[in-house]
Amino acid sequence: MKLNIVCIPGDGIGPEIVNEAKKVLDAVGAKFGHEMDFTDILMGGASIDVHGVPLTDEAIATAKSADAVLMGSIGGNTTTSPWYKLAPNLRPEAGLLKIRKELNLFANLRPAVLYDELASACPLKEEISKAGFDMMIMRELTGGLYFGERKTEEIDGKMVAVDTLTYSEDEIRRIAIKGFDIAMKRRKKVTSVDKANVLDSSRLWRKIVTEVAKDYSEVTLEHMLVDNCAMQLVKDPAQFDVILTENMFGDILSDEASMVTGSIGMLASASLNDTKFGLYEPSHGSAPDIAGKDIANPIATILSAAMMLRYSFDLDKEADAIENAVSMVLKEGYRTIDIMPQDEAQRSSFTLVGCKQMGDLLAQRV
Ligand code: NAD
Repeated sequence: MKLNIVCIPGDGIGPEIVNEAKKVLDAVGAKFGHEMDFTDILMGGASIDVHGVPLTDEAIATAKSADAVLMGSIGGNTTTSPWYKLAPNLRPEAGLLKIRKELNLFANLRPAVLYDELASACPLKEEISKAGFDMMIMRELTGGLYFGERKTEEIDGKMVAVDTLTYSEDEIRRIAIKGFDIAMKRRKKVTSVDKANVLDSSRLWRKIVTEVAKDYSEVTLEHMLVDNCAMQLVKDPAQFDVILTENMFGDILSDEASMVTGSIGMLASASLNDTKFGLYEPSHGSAPDIAGKDIANPIATILSAAMMLRYSFDLDKEADAIENAVSMVLKEGYRTIDIMPQDEAQRSSFTLVGCKQMGDLLAQRV
């Protein structure tokens, strides 16, 4: 199979981690007989430096012509970089918002996995973390409170601010279908999170999700209120498989879930539209503080590439090969600096590697 992949190396550590992901994808291609066709485009600060804007129309057209997009990260030091003296619509992040909108990416997927080997980084009590967890947060990305009408006005001498939370049944149905499709590739359980005891939008959410569930008889559906879900994530995270939720709840819960893994350099993400197309990127930023030093952890980007194989290309065996390689390398004791134990005494049983060496090891294990 030929895979047309547009890559956005971006800024900071972006080019370093994307290089390692390409290396691992090439190893997958060689092993399973696929041709990886990579085309790079500029976005963020890298594009501002060359074109004066964070994303050109040509770059968008190139991204649209691909099967999937793999991104590093964009942005610089927000206090010292000259990019942040520009108007907000010309700053690096504007490129990201523009590409999400142009590609109609409405479903955001963020896995939160606790690897046995990194369990000591988990901030939860051992009696909870020992069960491990492997969940996928599916967040609606283009509707709800962040996109509703808003205004601030003075009424009777007092300032009043209003934000509106709107969801149509079509918006709910399309994300619910994505959520159930993803659950079918996993442990076949969906926890739909809402606030149906208070909000009309949540009551509609619950109704439509329940309707969609009828087409997925193998998947178990449960509904959970968002406040309870926030508690359950730290009390019993092992219970979750796919968490399906709206924009703001997903924003908050996905950050909570990623914190309980304790390892920012390990967290992948994907944003999908209603075809197989997706944009895959690590959850972390461009880490300008460590850029160019060959010490960044490329695993989040490499696991994002595995998600790309699974969700945009239906190449499950190939995605498994990458995920197994990550487990293997961790088991063998290789660590980038961010996932090295803090404790000096414990460090002696691990081998410190840089970004390139981690990429080489993963490519070999694939
Ligand atoms: P960050 O995630 O870049 O860094 C936070 C801390 O984590 C830093 O100490 C960094 O060194 C470390 N870190 C992050 N990724 C790492 C990795 N792979 N390996 C080892 N250590 C890693 O967050 P920040 O410093 O708040 O943001 C830096 C820039 O990134 C900003 O311009 C911000 O706007 C941008 N950003 C971009 C995206 C994106 O492109 N989607 C997302 C978040 C932040």
